[in-house]
Amino acid sequence: MAPTSRAGDWVRPAVRELTAYRVADADGLVKLDAMENPWPWPEELRAPWLEALGEVAVNRYPDAAARELRTALRDGLAPPAGTELLLGNGSDEIIQIIIEALAGPDRTVVTPEPGFAMYRILAEALGMRYVGVPLRTTDFGLDRAAMLAAIAEHQPALVFLAYPNNPTGNLFDADAIAAILDAAPGLVVIDEAYHAFAGRSWLGALADHPDLVVLRTLSKTGLAGLRLGFAIGHPDWLAEFEKLRLPYNINSLTQVSARFALTHWAPFERQAEAIRAERARLHDALTARPGLTVHPSAANFILFRTPAARARAVFEHLRDRGGVLIKDLSGAGGTLTDCLRVTVGTPEENDRFLAALDAALAAD
Ligand SMILES: *Cc1c(COP(=O)(O)O)cnc(C)c1O
Repeated sequence: MAPTSRAGDWVRPAVRELTAYRVADADGLVKLDAMENPWPWPEELRAPWLEALGEVAVNRYPDAAARELRTALRDGLAPPAGTELLLGNGSDEIIQIIIEALAGPDRTVVTPEPGFAMYRILAEALGMRYVGVPLRTTDFGLDRAAMLAAIAEHQPALVFLAYPNNPTGNLFDADAIAAILDAAPGLVVIDEAYHAFAGRSWLGALADHPDLVVLRTLSKTGLAGLRLGFAIGHPDWLAEFEKLRLPYNINSLTQVSARFALTHWAPFERQAEAIRAERARLHDALTARPGLTVHPSAANFILFRTPAARARAVFEHLRDRGGVLIKDLSGAGGTLTDCLRVTVGTPEENDRFLAALDAALAAD
């Protein structure tokens, strides 16, 4: 028996009350649970990429300013003039930095729910009040009146909107977002993690909204393992956030790999295109199955509802008998009762998922 430690006496209560973010074990399973791009690094880019990596001096610290990578990002994005860029070890890290900069016991973050789990986890960890505003139950659209009421009541330092939303996949109504931008007294962050599959963006709105920050990531388009996210916004906000960024948060191998990918983007764009086509096929195939309710998605995943009280059994059947891992959201209850979320995979993976789903739905 190990001796008793003092962790329980000293770790902040807000931290002790958290539960660590659990990632499901996907060993040997078709992995359709985490919104990854199903295809590996494009074959034709493999040799030149590895050659570029061979040049990296890993005995040296990375370029703290990641200058060449920032240039490649700016060239690809063409953000409105006068905006700044902040790089993070995944956009999760940027969410953490933003909350760290704005947190305080009397400071509130408002965000629609169901939404991205990290907003709540990080707000609670860093000592910020968290207010979740339920989405409409019918279509997971923004409840405009409820959002505006929450903003009026709590005067939030921070509003998070994921566009498209995770885990529901839909794009919120643009007029409702515009009204939120007008009403919010603090910063509004629009998280465009699924931008590559959505075809719509608020990047252009930065030109006349100094208190808007847009988040993007390379994770969902094929580079989840590299961990690179970025924020675009007014220099006043980003200069403050920059002070909280650890100097070497983007490692040298990521800087070189991401820059290489961004300057050879065509195959990654073709992969995103193939995912959008498969999303349409998967949506139709799911809709054709009796008993399922399928939600339209502008992302690389689809949320669907099983017949009443069947979600857990279907999820387990898929995993344990079908060899396919998806995400079970039904445990959260509320509007996500009976809901499962599947990431769009390769055509073969999607076929395997659909066959396993048929078997799961047929089983009692
Ligand atoms: C996946 C996801 C992220 C996190 O992306 P990383 O860059 O991998 O940290 C952020 N926001 C939303 C809404 C996501 O779904």
